[in-house]
Formats: sequence, structure tokens, C-alpha cells
Amino acid sequence: MKVEFYRHSIEEADIERVGAVLRSIFLTTGEVVTKFENKLAAYLGVDNVVCVSSCTTALHLSLLAWGISHGDEVITTPMTFCATSNAIIQAGAVPVFVDVEEETGNINTELIKDAITDRTKAILPVHLYGQMCDMKKIRSIADRHNLIVIEDSAHCIEGIYDGIRPSVLSDAACFSFYATKNLTSGEGGAIATNDSSKAEFLRKLSLHGIDRSAAERYTKKYQHWDMDILGYKANMSNIQAALLIGQIDRIDSLRESREDICQYYQRRFDEAGIRYPKVHEGSVSARHLFTIWVDEGKRDNVLFGLQDRDIGVAVNYRAVHTLKFYREYTKGQKMDLRIAEMIGNSTISIPMYPKLTDVEMRYVADSVIEVVKG
Ligand SMILES: *Cc1c(COP(=O)(O)O)cnc(C)c1O
Repeated sequence: MKVEFYRHSIEEADIERVGAVLRSIFLTTGEVVTKFENKLAAYLGVDNVVCVSSCTTALHLSLLAWGISHGDEVITTPMTFCATSNAIIQAGAVPVFVDVEEETGNINTELIKDAITDRTKAILPVHLYGQMCDMKKIRSIADRHNLIVIEDSAHCIEGIYDGIRPSVLSDAACFSFYATKNLTSGEGGAIATNDSSKAEFLRKLSLHGIDRSAAERYTKKYQHWDMDILGYKANMSNIQAALLIGQIDRIDSLRESREDICQYYQRRFDEAGIRYPKVHEGSVSARHLFTIWVDEGKRDNVLFGLQDRDIGVAVNYRAVHTLKFYREYTKGQKMDLRIAEMIGNSTISIPMYPKLTDVEMRYVADSVIEVVKG
């Protein structure tokens, strides 16, 4: 048996919608994108959603839009994909890594205040694997020190913690529609914010800095347009949005299918004494990834053992500051990131997605237990 690490949940109806866009005249950013933005905004309960080309770009543009620039420090987590801290550097700022909680792998809010200096401008938490950080706590720290909060919500559209969804308490939340994310258009991203003037600015920033979109230029009589800021090219196309529109209607039932698989894994791994990150009582995890934590010395053997059984695996993540570029970048800094390092050396992600069959799910759990014990 071969079990893929991930299979998307795109259906014929989604493909039909893409076909309809392709048969129409207008392929780039237009009313299909607007329709998806409105649906995602309604789902989150936020005033504005601006779709862009990726979550990395969403983070980059948000940092710029909220005025983060050269010399500023942005507090973030090392237990994430490198895109998070890359975006901070690309915006001209400096990522300051704070260690994570042992139980969830999310940024340890108790350690944030010690990392604040007079150069700190923002906090950029990541809702790892779909479990939201404690946004009430993060917002209150930010308010006390007059900081911006931008969420890397690449793993978490569906999460709720203490009644709070992504984008509700932050200045902006950034989402990913990359090939393996919970909603996917192959590539894509979005920014959600209650600040409508920033949303308008972000639209402009994502389209060269010009003051009229292609849709406006197409649907209305020609008018000269102007460019008053140096923008980027980061808009989403109608083709991508067409793939996302049906998925957002199914988002909660897709999450529930993943929840069922996670509950099964948790039961099996509890019995076998295999550890995995905790989901806070009473919270809803977006259930983006299911990872197990094995002894640091055993991790690579388990990883290869599962691959030998034709089970797709991934490592999410080796701590960012241990990657070559960041080893150089942080040289000479004294950082105590031992929990992130420990998780990075222990973690293995296993197949968990709605299309995973019961037979595959049992095979994965049996194999994990045999390989870990063996
Ligand atoms: C996938 C991911 C990103 C980057 O998303 P893209 O849409 O590929 O740019 C950023 N942060 C985290 C935590 C991710 O998992």
C-alpha cells in the first residue's frame, strides 16, 4: 500500500468553475476574486479580505502597509516555515526569535515581553498546525507596548480559541492557498483586516502601486491611471479564485473530516504512549497538520522507516534559526530556543487529509506504532 502525504479536495464542480472562467474573457483579478474575498471575509467575520499571490507576499505587504521598515524588530517564532521570517527580512526588518511552548509548539507568550526593545514594532505569531495562539494575551502585550500584530495564519483559517478567530484581534491575518494547505488554488494567499483604509492601500500595493485595477480599466471607459507609490505585482487571478469558491463553502465539513482522523490517531497514539502536540480544551483547531513527537535520537530512523512502508511524511519544521542562512544571520546572538530545537528534532508529520481512507488511516497508525516501538 502507498499512502500519499497529501491529496487535495478539489471536486468536479470546482474544475467546472475554473472552466467557466477560462471560457470567459476575463482571466485576471476581477469579480470572481471579489466574490471569494467576500465569502472569506464573511466566514472570518472581518471587514476586508485582499487576495494576493501567496502568504509570504501577504506577510511582506502587511508589514510594509503597517509601516515596518529598516531597523525595526519583529518578534516571531522559530517553529515555523522559513517564509515567516523571510518576509520580515524582505520588509527590511529584523526577526527576533522567541522560544515556543512545550505543549503546542506555538510562541511562548510569557517570553515575549523580555524580547521587546525600543526597536520592536510588531509581533508576528504563527498558529502552528492549526492551533491558534492566545490572541487575547498577544493583543494585550502589544497594546501595552504599542506594537502591531500580524498573524501568520497559513495553517489556520478555521481555528477558534477563547471565542477568537484569526484577524479578529490582530491588525492583519495572512493566509496561504499553497498546494498542501487546507484551502488550495495551487498558489495563492490573502490578507484579512478590519482596517478598511489599509485594505485599500494593500490592494494598490499588490498591483504596482497604481490607482485602478485591470477590472476597472476593462469595464469602464478608458481613463488615464496614475502610480503614486512603488508597489509590487502580487494580485490573485480569477482562475485561482474560481478554485477556492467552492472549497470555502465546504470548509467546515472538510475540517470535520480531518478532526475525525486526528481523533483516531490520538486514540491510537495515547494507547501506545506516542506524543503529539496538544489542542487546547474548548478551542477549535484548524487541523492543518498532524505531527508526532518521537525521541530526538530516533526521529530520522522513524522517518525513513515510514517511508520504507510507502507512507508519505514531512518535517514541520526544523527550527528556522537552525537553517544555514539563519545560522549565519543570527551569528553571535545569544538565543535560548531550546524547546523549538527539541520539537524540530522530534517532529514527523503523517498523512492527514479528508481523502485519506479508513484503511490508509489504520495502516498509518499501525505502521507508526510498529516503527516507533521497533
Ligand atoms: C505555507 C506557509 C507559508 C507560506 O505560504 P505561501 O502561500 O507558500 O507563501 C507561511 N507560513 C507558514 C507557517 C506556512 O506553513
